Amino acid sequence: LGSTVKETPMHIVHIAVEMAPIAKVGGLGDVVTSLSRAIQDLDHRVDIILPKYDCLNLNNVENFQYHKNYFWNGTEIKVWHGKVEGLSVYFLEPQNEFFRVGRVYGCANDAKRFGFFCHAALEYLFQNGFHPDIIHCHDWSSAPVAWLCKEQYTHCSLSKAGIVFTIHNLEFGAQLIGKAMAYTNMATTVSPTYSREVYENSAIAPHRHKFRGILNGIDLDIWDPFNDKFIPMSYTSKNVVEGKKAAKEALQQKLGLRKVDLPLLGVISRLTNQKGIDLIRHAIYRTLERGGQVVLLGSAPDPRIQNEFENLANELHSLHHDRVRLCLIYDEPLSHLIYAGADFIGVPSIFEPCGLTQLVAMRYGSIPIVRKTGGLYDTVFDVDDDKDRAHAEYLKPNGFSFDGANAPGVDYALNRAISRWYDDRDWFNTLCKTVMEQDWSWNRPALHYLELYHVARNASRCS
Ligand code: ADP
Repeated sequence: LGSTVKETPMHIVHIAVEMAPIAKVGGLGDVVTSLSRAIQDLDHRVDIILPKYDCLNLNNVENFQYHKNYFWNGTEIKVWHGKVEGLSVYFLEPQNEFFRVGRVYGCANDAKRFGFFCHAALEYLFQNGFHPDIIHCHDWSSAPVAWLCKEQYTHCSLSKAGIVFTIHNLEFGAQLIGKAMAYTNMATTVSPTYSREVYENSAIAPHRHKFRGILNGIDLDIWDPFNDKFIPMSYTSKNVVEGKKAAKEALQQKLGLRKVDLPLLGVISRLTNQKGIDLIRHAIYRTLERGGQVVLLGSAPDPRIQNEFENLANELHSLHHDRVRLCLIYDEPLSHLIYAGADFIGVPSIFEPCGLTQLVAMRYGSIPIVRKTGGLYDTVFDVDDDKDRAHAEYLKPNGFSFDGANAPGVDYALNRAISRWYDDRDWFNTLCKTVMEQDWSWNRPALHYLELYHVARNASRCS
């Protein structure tokens, strides 16, 4: 690993339907951007192909300009080009209604829209003489790339490309995922533990030999408490106590909470069953009972869940108006202030392929309190229970965790965390410093991806 893989620059093309920060819905969008940046930083060439949604956030695209047009399947497709976070992005704008619907997902014909996009993207590469070493596709939405490429582009410049397929969440579109698994040269999912949790799934089981779990990382430039315009004071692990104190006060001020030093639990999450909404609710009540403060930032795609949380917010805001705030919106700047100002970030997921929240939390010196599942298990090591497991990874324990997806499970981790905060602030502050100094960036995972890219390319050339 390392020196040998650096020697031959590769050309990687991502075909994806999300990309942070211009078209981000969840972790998939973060990964496309931050993995690509890490690979590009290792001197490889990366291009990204994305639909040109009408709802793209174009403020974050540099040198956005019309590039050319082409025709596929009787439809004219206009191609735009620009740079996003330093990455080259081609935007495909078919002259039909597919991407003029004001959102990324949520249309009755999503499979058709994205199927069209996948085929159009391959056609663009083919018509323009691209010879990528790797074509990397993601989840059900660009899964068709795997079989279209192997069935319809075997005679051309794309035939030598290794196909890599990453599963960010197996819950979505499992039928399409099974077909992509059959055709892809190599497949990954986003943590080793999640890869083992899904081994038996019928979409995966027959293809295990080409399936790997590689942990996601976070982009250290995007998440950086030393250089973050959304927090009041720059800090590193050296002045974490002062930096977090200033952030906590700014957060309390902004949300109208009482400005006192109490243990503050933050939750930043899509509010869906996957994220353990009953456990989140329980953690809010328990923290308030223990005298702490709570800030939740989350929104629910399901209107019924959104409504339940709005009722909960009304109830809690009237009972404990100076100690709890539920912000039921999507708000990137506020998320930064919560990561910095909270003492704990709770992630009690029922399942979690990787999870970025706990990694960002640690980068800002907040202590993760998580359920032991998927990537949460791989990245959070309980200060009492996981000393040996952490040691085997050359890490210090860095948080609190629990097994059972129930109230006693949450209590087991949360009560210990809050008690330590009240009883031993020096110990707690040292823990904040420790988690900040751990490396959850793409540095290591990017090398694993490069190695996998080599395997995929060789597999494609031998087949
Ligand atoms: P998932 O992709 O399943 O939603 P991840 O933990 O992989 O979960 O990624 C979630 C990302 O979305 C994190 O960067 C988190 O900070 C962000 N996020 C989630 N909810 C919100 C919200 N309401 N406002 C701002 N950011 C949010």
